[in-house]
Amino acid sequence: MREAMAVDGRAVLRRGWGILTLLMVVAFLGACETDPSEAANETGEALGAGTEYGLVIHGGAGTITRDQLTEEREDHYHQALRAALDAGYEILEAGGSAMDAVIAAVVIMEDEPVFNAGRGAVFTSEGTNELDAAVMDGADRNAGAVAGVTSLKNPIQLARLVMDESPHVMMVGEGAETFGAQFDLETVDPDYYFTEERWEALQRAQEAEEVSVDWRGDENRMMGTVGAVARDRDGNLAAATSTGGMTNKRFGRVGDVPVIGAGTYASNASCAVSATGHGEYFIRNVVSREICARMEHRGETLQAAAEAVVMDQLYDHGGTGGIVAIDRDGHFSMVLNTPGMYRGHRMAGAEPFTAIYADEGDGH
Ligand code: ASP
Repeated sequence: MREAMAVDGRAVLRRGWGILTLLMVVAFLGACETDPSEAANETGEALGAGTEYGLVIHGGAGTITRDQLTEEREDHYHQALRAALDAGYEILEAGGSAMDAVIAAVVIMEDEPVFNAGRGAVFTSEGTNELDAAVMDGADRNAGAVAGVTSLKNPIQLARLVMDESPHVMMVGEGAETFGAQFDLETVDPDYYFTEERWEALQRAQEAEEVSVDWRGDENRMMGTVGAVARDRDGNLAAATSTGGMTNKRFGRVGDVPVIGAGTYASNASCAVSATGHGEYFIRNVVSREICARMEHRGETLQAAAEAVVMDQLYDHGGTGGIVAIDRDGHFSMVLNTPGMYRGHRMAGAEPFTAIYADEGDGH
């Protein structure tokens, strides 16, 4: 009896496995047929027509309001963004790579003191400058990052060398600089990073701390990180981000920028993202990869994925900031949950667009 039951049981089990295997094969074939960009149209509207090549940049997000900026200052930001867009666009137009384009755009912004990267980096609590940067190539998902470097004029170039010339992804502090010394990179004295504006921001931040140790709500501390994402004529995507971090940061604090998947991410399978905002929250929500993952696994459009992550998930968690992104079909996105983000894009054959305040939209 027991034997008969066992025999019957095995037969039932075999049939069960047979049906299950069949269902899995059908499901697998179905999944193979789902093109994320096609499925995207069912779940959310993709923004922009989709460009053959183009780039999107940001110069930081935060409490940027009209009463804080003079017209002259606004113009300055627009011009700086425009210069970065043009540098990247020229490369793309000439058939250059997305990686070269994002580096060129970020270098321009690193050299511009109004942004919190390179020359205009914010100060640590010790009155020093510790810079973070990262790049990622969507074609092979290779990446390079540096954190806490103190003597590079353009940390983004060192991040690229980590990617191209070392077997590693991230290098920090002195070690990163020793690695960089093998190459022909421009180094600078600490004075190079001194700007009156950032110094005053440090004094304000330190004074405020005397009355409140909760500095998470002070969004003035996180404006000006720079980043760029691009798609080239070959359909390759790339992302690059560079920052001085947060004013008054302590104890070797490293933000989201050099953490691959948090502040910087690129994959030709979905999208390239560069983020700016309160880094700790971007790390904890793995913001950049999360956006691309939603496209890959849920078939969402770039815009739907970026809004879900930045406006809902990140914001609900207490994180403020924004992202710029471009997807494998050339749709782009600029999403922010703060009053402002310095930003711009230039797509093949279209007029360049730059904006500062949230209500200026994304130029679609
Ligand atoms: N995300 C940067 C950091 O936390 C700051 C910023 O974007 O302004 O280091």
